Amino acid sequence: MKLTSIRDTYTLANGKKIPCVGFGTFLTPDGAETVDSVKEALRIGYRLIDTASVYGNERSVGQAVRESGIDRNEIFLTSKLWNRDQGYESTLEAFDRTMKALGTDYLDLYLIHWPIGKGHEQDWAEMNRESWRAMEKLYRDGYIGAIGVSNFMPHHIDSLMVTATIPPMVDQIEIHPGLNHTQAVEYCRTHGIIVEAWGPLSQGRLSQMPALNEIAGRHGKTVAQVCLRWHLQRGIVPLPKSVTPSRIEENTRIFDFELTDEEMDFIGHIQGPVGSGADPDKVAH
Ligand code: NDP
Repeated sequence: MKLTSIRDTYTLANGKKIPCVGFGTFLTPDGAETVDSVKEALRIGYRLIDTASVYGNERSVGQAVRESGIDRNEIFLTSKLWNRDQGYESTLEAFDRTMKALGTDYLDLYLIHWPIGKGHEQDWAEMNRESWRAMEKLYRDGYIGAIGVSNFMPHHIDSLMVTATIPPMVDQIEIHPGLNHTQAVEYCRTHGIIVEAWGPLSQGRLSQMPALNEIAGRHGKTVAQVCLRWHLQRGIVPLPKSVTPSRIEENTRIFDFELTDEEMDFIGHIQGPVGSGADPDKVAH
């Protein structure tokens, strides 16, 4: 399928549509900066907004959505269950708080944020299964359009599937040049799970790489645009974050050029920068 704009969509396993590019809000402080950047993103055409309870900015994201003047049903709103809220009852309660903070009565996508929480290094599998049971209930009750996971590697998903009755529809993982996660991406593809890339620009660290600058120059594009195009051509949904209007717009101009197979391959073999260094199996927040 040829993608032509950030509002083009992929189809999730349950038939719901997900935009092919999203907008990130990690580290954007609650208040004017979140309200302004999310409104600007919506004005420019982004329709997928990614937040999480642990970001502390759901209230402002919700305000931006309401003030945007865009119909709520045209916006694909995502939030995430934080580690300390894992468990059946606590997931239901955390979801309720998220809905109140966002000021909405349904969520398009709800994700388990991280597979292993602090203090749950031994019983993480049970914790995920209990949280998932709650998410399946919320989904069946019609409060959530789609449910998924984040930072789950194949073995975490396999473990979840021991008791799950609905497979995850999305896995949001850290991906950028230097961190391909080829195996996880391939696993998701074969299991009908759409992959979202967090840190798609490696938090802005990639701009310095000479090899990427050379490819960008060849196409008359910026390094950020080349990175985002690389995700698109891998069939991955990137979630670039920016509070800078010119960059919010720049990150949407990725549909008027194509990376060659050689360039895709070259970018896929870049070593480093290492990214956040957050290993889902080792980092237990
Ligand atoms: P990104 O890779 O999106 O990088 C964001 C940084 O890049 C910011 O400093 C931004 O600066 C800068 N930037 C944005 N556009 C450009 C550009 N065109 N040129 C140069 N620099 C640019 O990192 P994030 O960590 O924010 O990841 C994206 C989103 O993924 C998050 O916001 C969040 O929604 C999600 N996420 C999910 C996680 C998870 O565990 N599930 C973990 C981390 C993130 P500025 O804002 O100053 O313009």
